[in-house]
Parts: sequence; structure tokens; C-alpha cells
Amino acid sequence: MNELLSECDWIPPQRARLLERFGLVTIEDLLLHFPRRYEDRRQFDRFPAGESDTPVCVCGTVVKTAAKRLGSWKRLFEVVLEQEDAHALSQPLLCRWFNVHFVQKMIATGQRLIVYGKPKVRGKSVCIDHPEFEVVEDEPSVHMNRITPIYRATEGLSQRVIRSILHRVVESMPELEDRLPPGLDKLPFAEALREIHFPRSHESLARARRHLILDEFFSMQLFIAARRAETLAQPGRSHSAPGKLLSRFQEKLPFSLTNAQKRVLGEIRADMASARPMSRLLHGDVGSGKTVVALCAMLLAVESGCQAALMAPTQILAEQHYLNFSRWLDPRDVTLALRTGARKEDNRFFNEAGPQIIIGTHALLYDSAVFSDLGFVVIDEQHKFGVLQKARLIGQGKTPDVLVMTATPIPRTLAMTLYGDLDVSTLDELPANRGKIITAIRDESKTPEAAAFIRKHLEAGRQAYIVYPLIEDSGKDIKAAAREFEKWKEALRPMRCELLHGRIEPEEKDAIMRRFGTGESKALIATSVIEVGIDVPNANIMLIENAERFGLAQLHQLRGRIGRGEHKSYCILMTPAPEEELEKLRVLERTGDGFEIAETDLRLRGPGDILGAAQSGLPPLRLGDPLSDSALMIAAREAAAALFARDPLLERRENKRFRDLIAKSKKQVLSQVS
Ligand code: ADP
Ligand code: MG
Repeated sequence: MNELLSECDWIPPQRARLLERFGLVTIEDLLLHFPRRYEDRRQFDRFPAGESDTPVCVCGTVVKTAAKRLGSWKRLFEVVLEQEDAHALSQPLLCRWFNVHFVQKMIATGQRLIVYGKPKVRGKSVCIDHPEFEVVEDEPSVHMNRITPIYRATEGLSQRVIRSILHRVVESMPELEDRLPPGLDKLPFAEALREIHFPRSHESLARARRHLILDEFFSMQLFIAARRAETLAQPGRSHSAPGKLLSRFQEKLPFSLTNAQKRVLGEIRADMASARPMSRLLHGDVGSGKTVVALCAMLLAVESGCQAALMAPTQILAEQHYLNFSRWLDPRDVTLALRTGARKEDNRFFNEAGPQIIIGTHALLYDSAVFSDLGFVVIDEQHKFGVLQKARLIGQGKTPDVLVMTATPIPRTLAMTLYGDLDVSTLDELPANRGKIITAIRDESKTPEAAAFIRKHLEAGRQAYIVYPLIEDSGKDIKAAAREFEKWKEALRPMRCELLHGRIEPEEKDAIMRRFGTGESKALIATSVIEVGIDVPNANIMLIENAERFGLAQLHQLRGRIGRGEHKSYCILMTPAPEEELEKLRVLERTGDGFEIAETDLRLRGPGDILGAAQSGLPPLRLGDPLSDSALMIAAREAAAALFARDPLLERRENKRFRDLIAKSKKQVLSQVS
């Protein structure tokens, strides 16, 4: 399996080099280069008589080719294909390529050609533009009369070349050790590989696919279980405290904790008291009050005698946490420090042991001077950080207890993958004093009405966010925002408006946020820099321009900035999009449930985004989809758990193959994240 392709004497060296450039270095790489789709070449489709949205796969003879010029730039290459059967009455199929020069060199009259694509009608002929195609030559056993695999191919490595090489590899494949534990699936690994490449039937293909999905899910769950076992094996510290600091803090707090907050705090407290290191995810919709819970836990840690740190993804957010904490905590009780790239601040003197609570941005990763004995780590909006960053902060202490927080709700099977090595606590209740949020989609042309509506609320003492979709914060975008800013200033005069975007100097940014926080300024015209965490309960209106350009989850996060006080709140989604393109946004009008929104979002985007390696630190998936193959994911997880339950360190001889698999995943992940 690990044999290098460059050392196979039957592969010409320059071909091996091409394969290597394509990412295929070993026999195993090749075997795991799964087909992208299949063509059933035992029976081709009939020549199409009209348009169709499903692609057809037909085989015919080239009866005519023509190269044409369209104007001075465009070139067109046409091929007319006829069905081979002499009695066929079907009309010929026209295939067209625009500006693709190499095709012309490959196709000639008299050849047999297989084409695949969506037919449409142009004038009197039925045609396929830019079909996938393959010239039929004489190797019938590999390429024809079977369910034929179609691979990702590249220049110099055609479909047929890759298929021939794989056929040879599969034919001479040695018996391979099975990678699944007995009981999960019976099919031998080698047979699954043979069948995924050259299936004997649709049924055996389905069985092979199932096996290989289980295989990669199992590898993933094994990796996760190993990571968890590793954490648990480290000697942690017990952080137990009577909770005096905590009760003094809670007395000062202007509200009491919700039942969900109390429950979650209890879960965290139990973890902290135990000697094994905590690694827990606190998961709660926007506005559910995660920060207060984190602070309570940090106070417990401080009382038990160590330092606690909280890392936030943006300067603004770190500032805000710092301000809140300063307000809530009695200076005689706790010392507090802020560390961001732009600012260092210590709210009071502390001894050589350093501040007790440290709040900051990524700057914390590089500032080991503040840490003398970091025992508790909180990572806010954890999905905004990469695995290495998280590891680095944790590394500032000695097996500290770790709490990561996120507002992105995800379905169960994805959670058991992404967060499989964490214990999960959920805040499933919003604080009671929340005003309702009403969400409405409005056409761009209604901006004057929207402005009047905002003005009315500002006059009544409220505040508003006006958000622009400036993804890049490029120079051009900034100019656009500045222009819009002038317009809004005019429309809302004499209310004080301010402009906030990613390019503003950190100190200026803080000042702007502070003025908005105290109510000195009334409207914030901003980019999505305000997406995460900002908390100004008096702001009850959010107008989002070009809402169609944002993702659903992001809109939900943005909307989470309002509805934080007792006032009724309004979210206005402005868009030029026509009615039929509004389906996505309508979800937001219908529901405020982050879970439902996240699921819709996932369905629209696919899970790839979330499972991205750098963020998740997981091995990649080639075949399986944790959402649609969720039953297999659950089975794989159970099998991995059972294995570790029987043999926690995988010491037994028969489990060596699993240790090898884990080592392999680790290597893969390391190469991805670095
Ligand atoms: P998120 O979970 O989105 O991070 P925050 O921690 O920012 O939410 O909390 C949102 C707002 O709710 C803050 O203003 C916070 O002070 C307030 N809050 C938190 N817990 C409660 C509670 N139990 N009752 C009332 N308000 C609360
Ligand atoms: Mg938050």
C-alpha cells in the first residue's frame, strides 16, 4: 500500500511525476482516489430527442467535425455524433466546445465517442455544450461494457490513463488487513476498494461505498477518541473553592442567572473540582448569556488560587468583556488585565503572581509575561480560532481546565464529530427580560421609509445598527461605506452617527464603541466587524443592506446584537433581490431559533465549510457526509468508544492496527494545519 508510484516499474517515470504533481504519490493514494461518478457502459442512454435537466450518457460515431471562428476572439469546435445501431431513428447529436483548443486535436471523424452532459435544443438540433467525453479505443475490458468509473483527471492524465493505472493496481492488489473492528461491517477492505473502482453491480457498489464511508468515519472517531483519551490521561488539577467570590459577584449582578445558566455552571463546577483536566464546550444561542457563566467559572478558578484567561476573536469584543468585568467585579476582590495587540491595561496593582483574570485577543498567545500560573482558559467564539491557536493558549498553562464557547448550533452528528472529544453544555434558555425581535425583508427601494422608522426610534431614545456587507474591507468597499455613511448622517440628522469598519485604528474603534455603549452616539454604520459578541442592550434596530450577500448563520449572529434589552426590536433586511430569490432570507423572518437556521444554512452550504481542517483539526472526509450519512457516523462512534472501553490505551496486540491508523490521521492533520 505504501509503495511509491515512482518505484513501480510498469509506470513510466514522467507519468509517475505527473501523478505526484496531482497529489498521488503512493499506491494507497491511488486506491483512495475514488471515482467522482460512474457511467453504466453496459447500456448507454438513448440519443436525446429534446432538452433535459438530467445529464445523459451516450455512445456514438463521429460523422463530422468542424472548427469555426466566431468574431475575432471566439472559436467554436463542433462534432456531430450518430447512433451506431443501423436501425436507429434518433437524430444526430451536436457537441460544441467554445475556445477549448485541445479538444480539436483529440476528436476525428470515424471515432467512437462517449459523451456525457445535459442536452438542450438549439434551432433544429439537439446539442450538448462542453460535454465530458472519452474516445473509445480497443481495451474493452477496462473501459467498456461495465459500470465505468469516472475520475478527477488533469492535463496529461486523461480519464483513460488514470483508469488503466487503477485497473492494474486493483487487479494486482494484495490482500489487505481489514481496518474496521469486527462487527461494524463484514466486507473485506480490499474487496470494498475493488468494488468502488470497478463495481460488478450497482448493489455491490453501494455496499462498497457504505464500507468505505464507515472506514473513514471510524478513522475519524478513533482519532477523536484517542485525542480525548490523551487529555484525560494528563494529570490535571482540582480547582475547588467554597465560592465566596462567586456569591459576592452574584449579589452585585443586576440580574439573577437563568435556570440554564445555573445548571451549566453546576456542570462546569463539577468538572473543575475533579482532578482530570476539563475540556468542555459551552454552546448557547446568541444572547443566551455565555459570558456571565464563563466569568462565574473564572472566579471559582481564581478563588482556588490560579489565574484565569479569556480569549476573544476581536479587539472590540475583548474590550467589551474587560469593561463588563471591571464594572461587575469589586476591585478589592480580583485583579484584572487586558491584553490586545493595541492595548495593555491593568486595572489595579497586582503582586508578582500577576493579574488574576486576563482578557485579551490573539495577543495572549504571545504574551507569556502575564502568566505565572494559568489554570483556567476560556475561548470565546471558539470557531473563530484555529486548532493551533487554541493549543497555544492552553500551552500557556499546565493542563489548565478549558472552556470553549460558541453560538453556532450544529446538528448532533456533526457535533459528535467536531466536538467529539469535548463534553458539551448547552444554554437552552434565553434570559427572561428579552424584548421580541421582529424581522422583515424589504426591497431596496423602501430605504426612505426605513430611515423614517429608524429616526422615530432614535428620537424615542433607542439606538440602531446599520450594516454593510463589506467582506473584504478593501479600499473600494471603505469608500462605499463612507459614501453611505454621509447619506445616513444626512437622513438621521441631528442624531449622532458613527462609522465603524475593520480599517479603523484600534484606539479609535474602542472610542467609537464606547460612545455607542454609553448612548452618546445613536447610530452605528458598520461592516460585519460587529458580528460577534457586541452587547448594547439599548440598541433595538438593525438594518442590514444587501442582506442577500451574507450567509444565514452570519445574519443570525448579526441579528443577535439586538433584542438584548426589554424593548421590542426590529431587524430589517434590505435587498434588491427579486421575490423568487428570497427563500433563504425568509427563514429568518419565520424563526429566531438558531438551531433551525443553522440546519438550513448547512443544507445550503454543505458541511465542508464547518469541517474545514484548519479549524476543526480533523482528518479529511473523501466520501462520507456527516449529515446525510449520520447513521454510519453514529455506528462508527459507538465502535470506537467500545474499542477504547475494552482497551483504553490500545495496548493489546490485535489493536496495533488501530494505533497505526491514529498515527496516520495525526500526520494528516498536522500536514493540513501547518
Ligand atoms: P452570548 O451568549 O451571546 O455571548 P452574552 O453573554 O453577551 O450572550 O449576554 C447577552 C446579554 O444578556 C448581556 O447583556 C448579559 O449581561 C445579559 N444577561 C446574561 N445573563 C442574563 C440573565 N440571567 N438575565 C438577564 N440578562 C442576562
Ligand atoms: Mg458572547
